[in-house]
Amino acid sequence: LSLSSSSTSATTTPIDAQPGGDSIINLARGDPIMFERYWRQMGDRATVVIPGWQYISYFSDVTNICWFLEPEFAKEVVRVHRVVGNAVTEGRHIVVGTGSSQLYLAALFALSPHNASEPISVVSQAPYYSSYPSMTDCLKSGLYKWVGDAQSFNKEGPYIELVTSPNNPDGNVRRSVVNKSDGILVHDLAYYWPQYTPISSPVDHEIMLFTVSKSTGHAGMRIGWALVKDQEVARRMTTFIELNTIGVSKDSQLRAAKVLKAVSDSSEHAAGNLEEEESFFEFSYLLLAERWKLLRKAVEHSGSFSLPEFPPAFCTFLNRVSEPQPAFAWMKCEVDIEDCESFLQGHKILTRGGKEFGVSPKYVRISMLDRDDNFNLFVKRLSTIHL
Ligand code: PMP
Repeated sequence: LSLSSSSTSATTTPIDAQPGGDSIINLARGDPIMFERYWRQMGDRATVVIPGWQYISYFSDVTNICWFLEPEFAKEVVRVHRVVGNAVTEGRHIVVGTGSSQLYLAALFALSPHNASEPISVVSQAPYYSSYPSMTDCLKSGLYKWVGDAQSFNKEGPYIELVTSPNNPDGNVRRSVVNKSDGILVHDLAYYWPQYTPISSPVDHEIMLFTVSKSTGHAGMRIGWALVKDQEVARRMTTFIELNTIGVSKDSQLRAAKVLKAVSDSSEHAAGNLEEEESFFEFSYLLLAERWKLLRKAVEHSGSFSLPEFPPAFCTFLNRVSEPQPAFAWMKCEVDIEDCESFLQGHKILTRGGKEFGVSPKYVRISMLDRDDNFNLFVKRLSTIHL
């Protein structure tokens, strides 16, 4: 990444006099290492040891549609949704994927008509998650095609609409926006967890995607799961994963099961007022609350940017009113600067610009889930940028 260009270096603070001096602060990606501290605190509660002879087979449960799904992992998925109350699992098929990214592609494959004369349109309301366009079109599939913003979609015929709620990048709670009858919805619920948004009720959609990456912070495990109502769709998603990777790492599924178990245990212990363990969601909620407070203060001090405001609401999991505090800050440059990403780059703050999400370059997306030292340096530096 080139750091040389900044069209607007009209800041009152020279770069080498800024907090952190010359260091580059990279908050362009959504790497969830903020959660590392909690898992260190947990010691061996989420440690997994796998002897060399175990989990050698390709197969997990040949009686299940998703034959590579580890029963222990499936059990903990059902349990964590019951404990958190964020999704209905009854009457659902669970399909495990190498991250929810693989499940997104599996869903497109499963939902596309395989005998159509042209690819089915895939849409999502802008600003949308920046990986959807590239993931959808990278193989120039004859089955499906990225068409862009769902709000301006007016083509006749079937389509797939992605509903990301809360949304990446702007944190808003969303519903489908295309008002037509022949659409198929895929709900990406990566952030529908109590640290990010008040849980209002268990969601109950046809296809729901979840991931450990954003729920527990274990992005490196590469485990996601889909809750799917329709048996045929679950079967086709399983076929896609079979064709791609002949299943999903058992080692990772077992580790995910252990981590989800630790999360559910910590939530139940906290609810029962057992002091021995800190609740994972309380810990992460409080940490994010602290960060959002610091960020809002820095933005106010700087006077050059704005952040979205979110109404608090009752969270059925925390059993109190909670604030939405998204995993990303969707920040707008309020001064006369066209390209906020390159402007911040001039201050050695790396973010992802609005264009990648299908909107104006006046916006940038900033990860709120980085390590403490990086985040703290960022807010300090941001507050010194005055125009
Ligand atoms: N959907 C959304 C909305 C995301 O933000 C992300 C991660 N940035 C993903 C899916 C992909 O997650 P995974 O690591 O499970 O592939």
